[in-house]
Amino acid sequence: THFGEQEVALEDKQGLVNAVFHGVADRYDLMNDLMSGGIHRVWKDAMVADLAPPKQGTRPWRVLDMAGGTGDIAERIINASVGYAEVVVSDINSDMLRVGAERAKSWRFPAQASFVEANAEELPFENKSFDAYTIAFGIRNVPRIEKALGEAHRVLKRGGRLMVLEFSQVDVPGLDTIYRAFSDSLIPPMGRLVTGDAQPYQYLVESIRKFPAPSAFTTMIADAGFKRVTHTPYSGNIAALFSAWKI
Ligand code: SAM
Repeated sequence: THFGEQEVALEDKQGLVNAVFHGVADRYDLMNDLMSGGIHRVWKDAMVADLAPPKQGTRPWRVLDMAGGTGDIAERIINASVGYAEVVVSDINSDMLRVGAERAKSWRFPAQASFVEANAEELPFENKSFDAYTIAFGIRNVPRIEKALGEAHRVLKRGGRLMVLEFSQVDVPGLDTIYRAFSDSLIPPMGRLVTGDAQPYQYLVESIRKFPAPSAFTTMIADAGFKRVTHTPYSGNIAALFSAWKI
């Protein structure tokens, strides 16, 4: 059936994504710095500043950092809360989590993080169990984005916050041309240099282009039941932060 074909294609997509991150796990952080010129750090800092995790309270403040990879969003959140926030770093890829758990041993507050292997489309967490759900440069890789947003809504408490940081579509004339040329001519060769294989990076470049435009993605978030959805462009919308609330 037509539906059957679509399912296979989506499973293929997840397989390809998994292969990319299995291959690069040990060099992932280096790769991020190289490919973004370090700017990913600025975007992540801005996201966590906007989240403004509380530094104290009467009960635990729990965050699910989905597609959390090697844990750098989690580390920022925990540090910003001066060790108050509890972050579950979850990712479909055990290699990324292994690198993250190893790195976490040298964090300022290592006990505040835990690492759980899971698919964003089907979370092993209870309803209404988190105060915030973050996902940075991860949702683009999830085959069924609607399912992931639905799960995010399910596991958030009322009053909980969703934050999605993702590559977006450059909206500054001139910069868009430069960015396109940069992506095509530099990202795959850099991937080959660091990991020995360019093809997965070509795939990543394409996945950025296929990701829904900000207005369409805003609608998807609202369709999952979230309120007060906002879009904040970073660096000419090379990346974008989407924020929303479960009310
Ligand atoms: N959040 C980290 C960061 O900002 O550096 C890692 C982002 S990395 C580009 C994308 C991550 O998404 C990978 O670690 C990958 O394993 C994960 N991922 C891909 N598909 C997923 C899925 N269906 N469920 C959960 N994680 C997934």
